[in-house]
Amino acid sequence: MTSYNYDLFVIGAGSGGVRAARVAAKAGARVAIAEDHRIGGTCVIRGCVPKKLLVYASEFGQTFRDAKGFGWTVDWARFDWATLRDNVQDEVTRLSGIYRKNLDAAGVTIHEERAVVLDANTVRLDVAGAAVTAGKILIATGGQTTRPTELKGQELAITSSEAFQLDTLPARIVIAGGGYIAVEFASIFSGLGVETTLLYRGDKILRGFDEDVRDHVQNELVRTGVNVITNAVFKEIAPLPEGRKLASLTNGMRLEADQIMFAIGRAPNTSGLGLEAAGVKLRDNGAVIVDEFSRTNVPSIFAVGDVTDRINLTPVAIREAQAFANTQFRGQSTRFDHADVASAVFGRPPVGAVGLTEAEARKKGRVHIYRANFRPMKNILAGNQQRTLMKLVVDAESERVIGVHLAGPEAPELIQVAAIAVKAGLTKAHWDAACAVHPTAAEELVLMSEPVAHDNEAPA
Ligand code: NDP
Repeated sequence: MTSYNYDLFVIGAGSGGVRAARVAAKAGARVAIAEDHRIGGTCVIRGCVPKKLLVYASEFGQTFRDAKGFGWTVDWARFDWATLRDNVQDEVTRLSGIYRKNLDAAGVTIHEERAVVLDANTVRLDVAGAAVTAGKILIATGGQTTRPTELKGQELAITSSEAFQLDTLPARIVIAGGGYIAVEFASIFSGLGVETTLLYRGDKILRGFDEDVRDHVQNELVRTGVNVITNAVFKEIAPLPEGRKLASLTNGMRLEADQIMFAIGRAPNTSGLGLEAAGVKLRDNGAVIVDEFSRTNVPSIFAVGDVTDRINLTPVAIREAQAFANTQFRGQSTRFDHADVASAVFGRPPVGAVGLTEAEARKKGRVHIYRANFRPMKNILAGNQQRTLMKLVVDAESERVIGVHLAGPEAPELIQVAAIAVKAGLTKAHWDAACAVHPTAAEELVLMSEPVAHDNEAPA
């Protein structure tokens, strides 16, 4: 029998890699993990976690304004970017330390350097230069931000990776993109008082989300002061004195800004990883091709998380990693079911979505659509015009709720619970049987008694 240095070598210590390494090690496997940046990966270091902390920070301004209607006078509010940035980075460092401790406690050997694949059972550590063998190799290198490399002046712009570490808060920012990161950062910067422009190439942001949600969020961003420019992209970015930039757009507009940020998608992190040489098949965009058990075409090489470009969300990477480790090291054949994964966009307003959009559902069969659009109770006294949208997509044959789409305060919290019901296949009658909790916004979810659109009628 061949003897390898390790049973499992994991490349990438992000959400997926760390989970797989820990579970395999706890099951008795000899495991090593390599990370060339910081332990924790995108989510902990420059993604979900620091982003959510910035989101919290960005919400205070509105809270202070809302407070007036409730009798409070807040005339001392000042914001200091350096305090927020440094506190967020301290928290990131603390969490990275916890990830490291957990790996150590599980007995995983940590290599803080880049590792590349040499062949089906060998990796090379870049700094040490050593070749290390393993019975199985797991690719969990995640994704990376992308830039329009052909655009003149693109090097003057930042991406989300740099946004967390800015020396100063810009007075004006232009953010390109209309997906998760663009909407979240436009909401963050505008909430922190930055004059914010969102530049999207299509006519409506958040492509892939339900049309009502897309309309609602775009309208709310505009209402709260974000300058949303659609159907245009950058033609050129030019430097101006004092670090300012001048963006020329394809629609003829010119915008001056202190920062320009690309949020135009992320790409699987496989470049230079040695996978092609090892015979691992990749998609055109560099994603590792895997089957439902996260197996590549090379039997000893596996991949989980964003590097596979299935559903690029941290909890999905964790589930894929857990399923991989259960299957390969715990004798429990497990595959993660990618259906009905809920997700949230932490914008202003936040969005929560699970299951099919109305348009997707209509392609599959007859539907009933339930919708509520209301001003939450708290906003009345606050004088805040923000509204909440709630929408249920119901399959007309089975009466099952197959899609839930929310935009408004606490939508990400609510969608987690709604996802249980959708995943369980509960019918509209089950939802209605749950008695309302009053007074809440969530009660609307069980009080939408009349559909606004039936069967394949156009939405009301
Ligand atoms: P998304 O894929 O969500 O959005 C990319 C956006 O950029 C789209 O609006 C797209 O337009 C636009 N775009 C793409 N290429 C160009 C181009 N060349 N010029 C101009 N615009 C372009 O990517 P993000 O970067 O926002 O996020 C990456 C992924 O990370 C997300 O898909 C998500 O899976 C994950 N993520 C999840 C978060 C969460 O769970 N809250 C938060 C952040 C990220 P079009 O729609 O026309 O294609």
